[in-house]
Amino acid sequence: MRAAVLVDEGEPEDALVVREVPRPEPGVGEVRVRVSHAALNRLDVWIRRGLPSVPKPRVTGADAVGWIEHAGAGADSLLAAGGLEVGDRVVLDPGASCGACRACARGETSLCPRFRVLGEHVDGTLAEFVVVPATAVHAAPEHLDDAQAATLGLTFATAWRMLFTRARLQPTDRVLVWGGASGVGTAALQLCTALGVETLATTRSEDKVAAMRELGASHVVVTGSGDDQGDRVVQAAAEAFGAEGVDIAFDHLGKVAWEPSMAALRRGGTYVTCGATTGASPRAGVTRLFWKQLSMLGSTMASRSDVRDMLDFVRRHEIVPLLDSTWELDEVVEAHRRLEGSDHVGKLAVRVAAQP
Ligand SMILES: [Zn+2]
Repeated sequence: MRAAVLVDEGEPEDALVVREVPRPEPGVGEVRVRVSHAALNRLDVWIRRGLPSVPKPRVTGADAVGWIEHAGAGADSLLAAGGLEVGDRVVLDPGASCGACRACARGETSLCPRFRVLGEHVDGTLAEFVVVPATAVHAAPEHLDDAQAATLGLTFATAWRMLFTRARLQPTDRVLVWGGASGVGTAALQLCTALGVETLATTRSEDKVAAMRELGASHVVVTGSGDDQGDRVVQAAAEAFGAEGVDIAFDHLGKVAWEPSMAALRRGGTYVTCGATTGASPRAGVTRLFWKQLSMLGSTMASRSDVRDMLDFVRRHEIVPLLDSTWELDEVVEAHRRLEGSDHVGKLAVRVAAQP
């Protein structure tokens, strides 16, 4: 089968090749999915750069939508428990866990010590076929085409877990969304908008304001990329919501967002982050932490129940993920270039196979 394979670390043209690789065989409790569309994530770029370094060759990609093509031993009953069978169109959960530890027993699969991610710890989705646990496939929302549905697994589930499972989002909350034009940022805006939550989105570029508005952002602040971006956000939050502040600060930027978030949050407010793309070591600000009784939360990927609940919500509210562009498998190098630049808004999908 054809696949986009990571063979080295570094620039896209040095690290990625599209070539023939053996078709994977599903083991006990696993299914093979024929991939229609995959989607790229920031995670793919970090892995390509060697952060973290993964064994190579490795088929890249965490997200996909496709059709269950073959069920391994014992997988039929696992599929049936989820109302699925061979031939169904499914969204893949990019995470898998051991199924045997205390975290897995509680259903908190993303807290499993042996949690693994497609395209990082095991071969991923930019391939004609991918093998995953039968519990890691979910019926694709009917209102979405394959390119759109392919973008849900990682970013939407990550944003869902951050907002609902970790920060306990309520319809009356006001949410500050850092980096609103990114994959996880657009997902957060769309989830908040569907719930009727008031949001303030940040973006570095004036060019992206219109897209933020279309996603339903109640307020948008253009930060630029200077040293005063934090101050601009704190001021914009005060203008948008008054002196009380925001209930939740939703972040994946890290350093530039940490202290301004603490300043913009109301007393008892919650900061939640899934990344540190601008730096991992901000000043701690312990005085503000206890004085304002803040909760500073981390979140990574999503547990199985988060993915299922997110897909139900997307279906119920007919959310359509924002697609920046769709690429062919052979264009994976160019697609990585676009993802790594800062011109895109929303997700990049990759077409692997036409509808059967
Ligand atoms: Zn486990």
